[in-house]
Amino acid sequence: MLIASLAIYYSSVKLRRQDFNNLLKSRAENVARIVLDSYEYNANLFLRSGSGNPARLQDEKFLIITLDKDILYTTDKNWEFEEINTIIGHVRTGRDVFYKSKPYDVLATLYSTGLYEFVVIGAAIDKDGHLHMKKLRIVLLVVCLVSLISFFFAGWFFSGKALKPISAMVKKVEDISITSLHLRVPESNGADEIGRLAKTFNNMLERLETSFGMQKSFIANASHELRTPLTSINGQIEVLMMNDRSTEEYKTALGSVLEDIKSLIDLSNRLILIARTSSEGPSGYNNKIRIDEIIWQAQEEMKRFNPSYHINISLDDSVTDSEKLMVAGDDYLLKTAVTNLIENACKYSSDHSVFIEVGREDKRVKVIFEDKGIGIPEEDIPKIIEPFYRGANAVPIQGSGIGLSLVNQIVKNHNGSINITSKVNEGTQITLLLPALSSN
Ligand code: ADP
Repeated sequence: MLIASLAIYYSSVKLRRQDFNNLLKSRAENVARIVLDSYEYNANLFLRSGSGNPARLQDEKFLIITLDKDILYTTDKNWEFEEINTIIGHVRTGRDVFYKSKPYDVLATLYSTGLYEFVVIGAAIDKDGHLHMKKLRIVLLVVCLVSLISFFFAGWFFSGKALKPISAMVKKVEDISITSLHLRVPESNGADEIGRLAKTFNNMLERLETSFGMQKSFIANASHELRTPLTSINGQIEVLMMNDRSTEEYKTALGSVLEDIKSLIDLSNRLILIARTSSEGPSGYNNKIRIDEIIWQAQEEMKRFNPSYHINISLDDSVTDSEKLMVAGDDYLLKTAVTNLIENACKYSSDHSVFIEVGREDKRVKVIFEDKGIGIPEEDIPKIIEPFYRGANAVPIQGSGIGLSLVNQIVKNHNGSINITSKVNEGTQITLLLPALSSN
């Protein structure tokens, strides 16, 4: 507004000056013509007789001089010029001189009668023009002030309105803590940025709530699983200490305590591993590993501790070169995954047998673990990879429900996938797919 007002004002000032200068020039030329062309008249009388003539300018005065500065005619005897030399110099070149000598606007121009040349200087006060300018100044000032005040209030009102949803959001967010993750921020219409921000925020809260929930149930389940063997150890030792026992009895009781301690160690190892692999996320493992070698090693170790397990390994016909079974990974983690799958297959089948087939599927190494065991109920299949979840028919068989979720996490970290198909009392087939290092 200020810039627009200034532009309007200054262009009006310029226009006023131009108009007035034009008027002054034509009036000065008129006067010069009357004075110089018609000196047989009484020029003064003639000019004065024109008072009231609309062509007359206010407080006008004129001076006509020769180029040698001799005064030929003047309406004002006391009129003094300091810059007369410069003015004559300019006018001689044919240019008009306009300047301001307050309160007059002054014009100097060259007038030629054909034989002689004269300098005509005219001055007048543009009272009407100055009055108009004064009015324009006041109008523009009022307009600027009124706009400023209205912009201030309008800005205040609209910014308050625009920021209202954010204030509501901030208020709600202040109420959200770990114990109240179920709260959501208000979502206005979802189309604008604030609506999208609220939606994104709510999505984040949703994910946080889920992951906090999972963590809570994980901790609850883990503590429960750890407490069971500890309670058993505690009970056995208490009973043992009640009376004096024979060496044989001590040995049996300590053997049982040892079993519980072993399962405790096993469980804590798996918990540590699951925590490590989940925090690592998909990692860039660089070791080149032959998956069949990992399976052979796992078979050997398993057989040492569980001689009753039958682990049958076969290679797919398509595998002509051991290079085809190379994957990038962590050998300890991959062996842990394979061991868990072998153990499950043997544990949940009466013949304690597993059939492993190693091969390729496109650009991935494929390992199938198949057993003819108790199978997994259909409704349990999607859930068994969750930590501590156990199939309904697996309860009589010892386990903690952590093995498959560990396998799943390890496979995910290796950018692989796991697929489970099973039928109750017929058997289970678990397929492991890992990205192969060689593309064919
Ligand atoms: P755990 O074996 O200690 O219970 P896992 O996480 O290894 O824990 O397995 C989760 C559940 O998946 C098991 O309780 C069982 O119900 C089911 N399961 C896994 N593998 C098999 C299998 N080969 N045959 C039948 N059920 C299986």
